[in-house]
Amino acid sequence: MGNRAYNFNAGPAALPLEVLQRAQEELVEYQGIGMSIMEISHRSAQFEKLNGDTQQLLKELFGIPDGYQVLFQQGGASTQFAMIPMNFLKAGKVGSYVLTGAWAEKAWKEAQLFGETSLAASSQEQKFMRIPELSEIRLHPDAAYLHITSNETIEGAQFQSYPDTGSVPLIADMSSDILSRQVDVSKFSMIYAGAQKNLGPSGVTVVILKDDMLKDVPKNIPTMLRYDIHAKNNSMYNTPPVYSVYMVNLVLQWIKGQGGLAAMEKRNREKTDLIYNAIDQSGGFYRGPVEKGSRSIMNITFRLQDEELEKKFIKETEQNGFIGLKGHRSVGGLRASTYNAVPYEACKALAEIMADFQRRNG
Ligand SMILES: *Cc1c(COP(=O)(O)O)cnc(C)c1O
Repeated sequence: MGNRAYNFNAGPAALPLEVLQRAQEELVEYQGIGMSIMEISHRSAQFEKLNGDTQQLLKELFGIPDGYQVLFQQGGASTQFAMIPMNFLKAGKVGSYVLTGAWAEKAWKEAQLFGETSLAASSQEQKFMRIPELSEIRLHPDAAYLHITSNETIEGAQFQSYPDTGSVPLIADMSSDILSRQVDVSKFSMIYAGAQKNLGPSGVTVVILKDDMLKDVPKNIPTMLRYDIHAKNNSMYNTPPVYSVYMVNLVLQWIKGQGGLAAMEKRNREKTDLIYNAIDQSGGFYRGPVEKGSRSIMNITFRLQDEELEKKFIKETEQNGFIGLKGHRSVGGLRASTYNAVPYEACKALAEIMADFQRRNG
């Protein structure tokens, strides 16, 4: 596959080549059933099995203990921003948020539509270029939950360890780093992630939810926005995104074949070390704005001296087959998203072209 780009897109993002090839092989006729997986009923035995297998595989890979539901939802992580307060923020309680960047801010703003909120910690004054220390986090005494964003996709900052919230449910948006490293899932009451960064194509959102969160979900909110309804119906209250679930299944099989999360984490660190080293050893030609202790192993943000040079960098790398290195429009600069499916070779090639560009422009 010599003409596959070096894809550093932030989302939708790179998928493993092996997964795409397997999907291609099975596209017209899925496992001898005489039709595509896209053409079967979601009530069929085949989809029931696929749905169950995918839940099981995720539980196995991520180490999800008993007492948790795995749901496949639609509407992206952005719909979860509203569902969380609608389902869990009761009157007299406070939705507690850690403000670490653009995505955390969206989650927090959405909660303000439904109830009282507070900030348990914020790195806004440092332009989100660091993740607050766990000791800086001040849980509101009436907190209904604490919400964190484990990896800020736009700024490139990532939690390195997670707060202990005792009996207060800890909820994490892991859209851009789920399955990139090992996590103690038992610390969380809820983890959610849109699939299109690290799990598959867009169209499905994975929600991992502790059973006790479902105990008293309000009955006066829209049916489609109730977690208890989705749990009771095994994510098939309405027609699920069958093809996206199928793709997530293939990606999970691929991760398992790669050696699971320990192997993924090791490889992700090796990949990002290549690029962070290219930044740190450039004598200031490239600058990584995020504090070293908060650097993301999924989204590497960096800058050059001025925007002209950044434009030149993007143009030259594009001419050499690199895609997606432009920073998010809200922050500018450059960003390389190095999700699980981005090969080591792509990161090595990026580190090399960075060094080469510096030689010619430094
Ligand atoms: C991409 C992203 C989202 C938004 O996901 P949608 O599926 O587009 O709603 C939310 N949170 C984080 C951390 C993200 O990276």
